[in-house]
Amino acid sequence: MSKRVAIVTGGIGGLGTEICKHLARSGRKVVAADLASRSERVEAFRAEMADFDGAVAFEPLNVTDHQACADLVQRTGRTHGSVSILVNAAGITRDTSLRKMAPEQWADVIKVNLEGVFNMCRHVVDGMTAQGFGRIVNISSVNGQTGQFGQTNYSAAKAGMHGFTMALAREVAKKGVTVNSVSPGYCNTALVQAVPEEIRNQIIANIPVGRLGEPREIARVVDFLSAEDAGFITGANIPVNGGYFM
Ligand code: NAD
Repeated sequence: MSKRVAIVTGGIGGLGTEICKHLARSGRKVVAADLASRSERVEAFRAEMADFDGAVAFEPLNVTDHQACADLVQRTGRTHGSVSILVNAAGITRDTSLRKMAPEQWADVIKVNLEGVFNMCRHVVDGMTAQGFGRIVNISSVNGQTGQFGQTNYSAAKAGMHGFTMALAREVAKKGVTVNSVSPGYCNTALVQAVPEEIRNQIIANIPVGRLGEPREIARVVDFLSAEDAGFITGANIPVNGGYFM
């Protein structure tokens, strides 16, 4: 069998990078799709992936652009083969309490974190059902389960991903396509390092395992859900949060 082809949105981010590495180690051809505007990070990512013998490529993408998502899926199909695995890991935060939240802060988070998932799934799903195999993994968040102060936008988007995941899972289950979400707790990435130290320490104090998660601990679960023999897990949400929410 030729290599399965995977697209990872947010692929050069903290979790995305580690997800790309895990999928490549499992023998997949991986396309990391992310904002071209992050040019320094793109260069660093390319250098980091040099060890993977061309198994990981970078493609510029803004997930809020519906047509750009269609173009990426088509281009990937022509260059590497039909997409079998999609990991939606692109995400942003625009934290502030609802009373101070501007409409743009609401809309930006919904557009990237939720509409971006629709845009990508919309364009991969026909190819997956046609080939009778597909694995979609949506990276949600523990804050979509618990809610979080200052994150009505983010918590709504991440909780929305669960409903989306279950609905799409039902639509494509008979065609060999699984759709699941992974809900990380707080992990050691730039997104969490940007939280003020005092608040970060309070968060860590509330994590039963007593530390932040490592990106590879999320990537391992994504890799597991993307496996050939993971076909009986669908519509599930897998929490990976160090016991922060049980
Ligand atoms: P990160 O900021 O390192 O990575 C996010 C990536 O998404 C970045 O590379 C960014 O450029 C990309 N991105 C943003 N907007 C985009 C757009 N419009 N189009 C394409 N790409 C875009 O953050 P991370 O910690 O790696 O988070 C990855 C995912 O995991 C996010 O969805 C985040 O909400 C979720 N998550 C992270 C944590 C954590 O603790 N780090 C916890 C729970 C959930």
